[in-house]
Parts: sequence; C-alpha cells; structure tokens
Amino acid sequence: MTKKVIMVSTCLMGENTTYSGENHFSSDVAQLSKLFNVIKFCPEQLGDLPTPREPSEIKNGDGFDVIDVKANVVAKSGKDVTENFLRGAEETLKMALEHKPAFIVLKECSPSCGLHRIYDGSFTNTLNNGCGVTTALLIESGYIVMNEVEVARILSLELDED
Ligand code: SF4
Repeated sequence: MTKKVIMVSTCLMGENTTYSGENHFSSDVAQLSKLFNVIKFCPEQLGDLPTPREPSEIKNGDGFDVIDVKANVVAKSGKDVTENFLRGAEETLKMALEHKPAFIVLKECSPSCGLHRIYDGSFTNTLNNGCGVTTALLIESGYIVMNEVEVARILSLELDED
C-alpha cells in the first residue's frame, strides 16, 4: 500500500537546521517514517536565513499576530527578520499544497514551528502561550498539526494497546 505523506520539521528528523546549527532529533518522530512518506521542511531556511543564524523571537504577540501585521519577528541583535519568517511560512504552505500531507509535525517553542508555546521576545528564555509564524499559517489553511510531544503520546498509546 502506498504510504500517506506527512510533513515534519527537519530538525526533528536530525538535520542540523536550528539557529545554532544543531538539531532536535526525536526518535518518536523518526519512527513515523516507517508508516508515512516524510517530507521535511525548515521554514527559516526556506525564508533565506543562513544556518547557523542569530536566534529570533516574536515580539508582542504570536504567529497569528505576525500574519496580521500586529507583531514582528526580531533577531537577538535587534534586526527585523519578519519578512524572512513570512517567506518561510509561505514556502512551507506551498509545499503543503503540493504534497497534501495527512498531518504536519512541528518543533515546539520555535518562532516558526512552535505549536503551543513560543519565547516571549525578551531573549530571557521565557515562554508564553502561542504558536510560531509557519504554524499559524498552516492552522489558518486548515492543516492538522501536532508537536513532537503529541507524536510521542500517540505512539505510546498505540504501544499500550499491544
Ligand atoms: Fe526546526 Fe522549524 Fe527551527 Fe527549522 S525553523 S530548525 S524546522 S524548528
């Protein structure tokens, strides 16, 4: 049977695409490749930011506010990188429109990929409720999204049934 397509943040699959040039490999998320055809994406690279790059955070809101032009994404040096984040989100959406994923797995807490929590814009390691820019655009476009913790929970439920 042909595997269904899903999309996954590259860093969760072990690629060194984070701002620091590292990854957030998740063995739970990687297991999904046994069941699905995984298409990887990194919105910040798709938005033409280099790797490694400066860390960035959303100021005065979350990804929905950035899309609504009510908040900005700012690098630690103060440089406004909102355009890069919006471009990355739009390029990710184009990939989703092309590949029609059953669902999309996103790395929690990222200003692009965060689902429930993001850093608050103060660069003090403080988390707020809210999602990243790409996640907001994918939710607005009707895609099913989940983070790596939710994938792990779903897989453990399946294991419990065995
Ligand atoms: Fe991972 Fe998303 Fe950050 Fe790229 S933008 S490194 S995929 S969390």
